[in-house]
Amino acid sequence: METVLNSHPEENPVTELPRIGPKLASNLEKLGIFQVKDLLFHFPYRFQDKTRTVPIGALVNAQTVMVAGRIVSVNDNIRYRRALIVRFEDDSGRMSMRLFHYSYKQKTALERGSWIRCFGEVRISQHGYEMVHPEYSVFQYPPPAPQSDRLTPVYRLTEGIGQPMMRKIVNAAFDHCTQRPVAELLPLDVIRRYDLCSIGSALKDIHSPLVSESGLTAVDADQPAKRRLIFEELVSFQIARRQQKQLRQSSEAACMQPAGDLSRRLKDSLKFTPTDSQRTVIREILADLKKATPMLRLVQGDVGSGKTLVAAAAAAWVVDSGYQVAVMAPTELLAEQHLKTFYDWFAPLGIEVLLLTGRMSAKIRRQVERGMKGGQTRIVIGTHALFQEGVEFKRLGLIIVDEQHRFGVGQRFALREKGVADQQVPHQLVMTATPIPRTLAMAFYADLDVSSITELPPGRIPVTTEVFSTGGREQAIRKIESLCAAGQQAYWVCPIIDKSEVLDVESAVEAQKYVEQSLPARRVALIHGRLKSDQKDRIMNSFRAGEIDVLVATTVIEVGVDVPNASLMVIESAERMGLSQLHQLRGRVGRGAAQAMCVLLYRGKLSEMARKRLQVMRETTDGFRIAEQDLRLRGAGELLGTRQTGAQMFRIAEFPRDRELLDDVIEVAELLLSQQPEFVQPLIRRWAIREGQYSAV
Ligand code: ADP
Ligand code: MG
Repeated sequence: METVLNSHPEENPVTELPRIGPKLASNLEKLGIFQVKDLLFHFPYRFQDKTRTVPIGALVNAQTVMVAGRIVSVNDNIRYRRALIVRFEDDSGRMSMRLFHYSYKQKTALERGSWIRCFGEVRISQHGYEMVHPEYSVFQYPPPAPQSDRLTPVYRLTEGIGQPMMRKIVNAAFDHCTQRPVAELLPLDVIRRYDLCSIGSALKDIHSPLVSESGLTAVDADQPAKRRLIFEELVSFQIARRQQKQLRQSSEAACMQPAGDLSRRLKDSLKFTPTDSQRTVIREILADLKKATPMLRLVQGDVGSGKTLVAAAAAAWVVDSGYQVAVMAPTELLAEQHLKTFYDWFAPLGIEVLLLTGRMSAKIRRQVERGMKGGQTRIVIGTHALFQEGVEFKRLGLIIVDEQHRFGVGQRFALREKGVADQQVPHQLVMTATPIPRTLAMAFYADLDVSSITELPPGRIPVTTEVFSTGGREQAIRKIESLCAAGQQAYWVCPIIDKSEVLDVESAVEAQKYVEQSLPARRVALIHGRLKSDQKDRIMNSFRAGEIDVLVATTVIEVGVDVPNASLMVIESAERMGLSQLHQLRGRVGRGAAQAMCVLLYRGKLSEMARKRLQVMRETTDGFRIAEQDLRLRGAGELLGTRQTGAQMFRIAEFPRDRELLDDVIEVAELLLSQQPEFVQPLIRRWAIREGQYSAV
């Protein structure tokens, strides 16, 4: 199989195609196109319909269509801005084409009485429908009916390659494969069982779909071509993930064997008893750490479920085995808070914990780096700065990534490479408070082991949530007043720092003024991402110490901030935020013994979608249910964090649209891996977007 495929024309470099030299080839590389097959799998993102002309009388504003008619007048309009206006008509109406740039030759070719055919976007102008700079051709006779019954593809482009050229190049790729059709990489019985079309016809149809007789163009997911390709892509993704796991399991890690009793001492020093759920997860982690293969375990646990303790228990085990631990947090604020928590737990036990962030002075930073390199620093907490160059560890044994969904793909990888000493890979623990539904988890995290913290620490009373329009501000103020009187604290969160000219959204700076004026006796502070880290530090510390009553903040406090005495959170312009984000924010309260409350304020009239979202927030505090709803309302990219990092995960598959396919996909992936391994590598190679793409977590 392997050798046959290598001699396949689709695997040839694009330079084998006519007229593609090194310059064009290097431009194509920017689109991830190296081989002929990459062109075949460079799918159009939309289509143009040049299969028919639309009667002028039936035009709709902003449609991109083809029209044809007889020229009735040609004018140079010089009154405002030089332009050539060509009016033409068919049996149903009259419209015009407007050109701002044109040559003398173009002008003379456009004669009254000739015929014109234009393709472009129609717009309503003062003088009726018009197209500005459409593609057009002139005829001396009524233009013939369009030849094609297929749609024209529109591709993502790159420097030096326009749409027509891209179409030519893709066509050339198809021509290149006429002698030997593109390899069929799904077994025949799978194709039959799942009622899929052949790869050959799928590719042809995806690039230029047939227009059906009714004139409707079916380019949606249940079109056979699309379904076939989505299916194959998901199978390939699935087996790539599983292979990744096998690969990991065949590499080596240090077996963690504690020399002392640090774990027990940590446990004894706690001010609370771990929940059963925490204990189970810790046991699962320790079992991994004792093995000589690297752990890659995801811990899912709702906000407030106590993931930090689980991380600390893992860290204690590794430190006691003579290795270092790196804890990565997505924000400085969270890194600083982890520093405090870890310091409080570990310093009394004689373990050095240090912080490394991008904002530290060079001098302190060098000190920290020295400690990491020398090995004295056993636990380092940090942000992105942890994977910068020059940062070295002596014996990195465990990487803990908190709030994993906030990080990009490549970053985690860079850190992992830092640990590769003596051919050993560090263990990895990934934590997330954004639980994802089970089938999705199976599909996306097929290369991870997953543990879930399923209960909250005892005594927590669920946060109650209320939704008000902006008029609810006064009510919120009264609530704050009464809870401050009882010695509790509150957050007041806004989506942006400063007032925006373009967005109708509450800003933190203004909210601070409002809260200060409304509560003159209370201590109010403002925290946001533009503050220096020592300023943020100072504010967070005084809030924690109870010296601030109301903390007005942007969403910098979204992840991880832990102040149990804060029992009310007001969120302004809540309709602008995603469900998972709201859930994260709300998770900042309800961490103490008092009944906590969350007030969601919105501005203006709510869209149907926004209303539904806020309603979900009011009805449940269950992270899984919220994630499920978020998926329904927004799509998986958001949930899995790909949108934030901009990584393109799929060429054609899309979630949640395609989730119905997942059960079948997993079945087929397992079948291929166990019974038809010859398909595995070719499939992965075919669909890989770029090197390393599939090692996303
Ligand atoms: P998250 O899972 O959101 O990261 P944290 O680790 O920040 O949650 O824990 C939330 C709060 O619960 C912290 O104040 C922590 O000290 C406390 N906590 C964690 N585990 C327990 C427990 N078993 N019993 C009581 N409180 C706990
Ligand atoms: Mg946390």
